[in-house]
Amino acid sequence: MKVRIFDTTLRDGEQTPGVALRPEQKLAIAKKLDELGVDAIEAGFPVITQGEMEGVKIIGREGLRAEICGLARAEKKDIDAVADAGLSYVHTFIATSDIHLKYKLNMTRDEALARAVEAVEYAKGRGLQVEFSAEDATRTERSFLTKVFRAVKSAGADRLDIPDTVGYSTPSYIAQITREAVVATGLPVSVHCHNDFGLAVANAISGIQAGAQCAHVTVNGIGERAGNASIEELVMALQKLDFGGTKYETNINTRLFYATSKFVSGIVGINVQPNKAIVGENAFRHESGIHTHGVLNNPLTYEPIGPEEVGQHTSIEAGKHAGMHGIAAMLEEYGIKPGKDQMRSILDRVKEAGDRGRRISEVELLSFAGEVMRLENLKRFVHLTGFSVSTGVGNMPYAFVKLDVDGKELIGTDYGVGPVDASLKAIQKATGSVEQMLIRDYKLDSISGGSDALCEVTIDIEDCAGTGASAKAVGEDIVITSVQAMIEGMNRLMLKKSLKRNV
Ligand code: MN
Repeated sequence: MKVRIFDTTLRDGEQTPGVALRPEQKLAIAKKLDELGVDAIEAGFPVITQGEMEGVKIIGREGLRAEICGLARAEKKDIDAVADAGLSYVHTFIATSDIHLKYKLNMTRDEALARAVEAVEYAKGRGLQVEFSAEDATRTERSFLTKVFRAVKSAGADRLDIPDTVGYSTPSYIAQITREAVVATGLPVSVHCHNDFGLAVANAISGIQAGAQCAHVTVNGIGERAGNASIEELVMALQKLDFGGTKYETNINTRLFYATSKFVSGIVGINVQPNKAIVGENAFRHESGIHTHGVLNNPLTYEPIGPEEVGQHTSIEAGKHAGMHGIAAMLEEYGIKPGKDQMRSILDRVKEAGDRGRRISEVELLSFAGEVMRLENLKRFVHLTGFSVSTGVGNMPYAFVKLDVDGKELIGTDYGVGPVDASLKAIQKATGSVEQMLIRDYKLDSISGGSDALCEVTIDIEDCAGTGASAKAVGEDIVITSVQAMIEGMNRLMLKKSLKRNV
């Protein structure tokens, strides 16, 4: 069965506390959502500000494949704003629960019903496709909810939506009211689930199983309070889990999930929690020896989803739960093959550091191996031979780098939002012809206090085939230390790849 995905990252997601997007940022996200394959994009709430109106307008004009929808209260001026923004699809709503009627709208049920009907008729009169939401549906008295849905259907509504506005529903309850709405009206029904009790995705699935053909979702599950059902979790659950013979499909290209998640979190400024399903940094990361051994033998043992299906990759970490197999596999990527006793000593050091509460990155593991095996320096491919950067007020930070890559001189220049950004971009430009590299993560820590503090830069990079490496550098100058960490990361990545080619 096909499930329609209605993305509201740009509307409910933007209502996340602390988030406000400029029109061009909204457009950039809309394009990514369109590439991802969502069926509908709720672009915003055009009546609220001039900027919001502008954002909705430019998204509507972009000619995206997805249907573009605008939000409106059940009021003429709101509906007019959606039509005036050039859209042909409105999502209009009015609250129907007694709590909202009494304390928010100060209306009787009959007044709300009349307002809903009037709004739908007006929107149809303006030639719009109408999706009607009974806000706080899951706390609305059931016979009244059905009455409202029947009335808006007669008024011409094309779609109904059941918002679980405060995440109050249980999976079984939303299933019941979804079925009732479908039976009472025969219209396509959507479910809009919030995550106040961590049940948003479970409730959305339950609504779909009960006959809803569409779910409202957001990237990374952002949204009011605890957020909305996350698109990544919902789509993968529909695709992967066993629904007793029923198969669900969507138009989503799931391989773009990780990249889209990163893109959106970068623009809205909200990091994804590491243990977030599907798109979290730890979603495919293994440390424990038992799990690592299993995954190395067959990923199906501990990975219910192939990481590549969602644009992620497996990573094995060293730590106090690590075992021989995982550590051996990590070292082998750098061509390091310790003997049995050496392996024991390396593992001891890893566990000792882990017990002291340290997270052991690839960088530290390599240095443990180096100490134990008295390794000479690992082969280096990239050397920095020239570097300058300028920054200040009133001019764009600008960087120049000269690199020696395997005996070939490469030069790169670029601008950036700051000197670090400019420098790292210049390096990526210089090496672009040899190696396309993407910075997956950049972390800056200050080790001591004061303006002469030492800083520590950790960089995770990845090539287009998904091979990754991380590196760390410590120094006094943030820019130079960042550049050193980047160069170190590139050396690691190229070493890994050269060893892979030789295998
Ligand atoms: Mn909502």
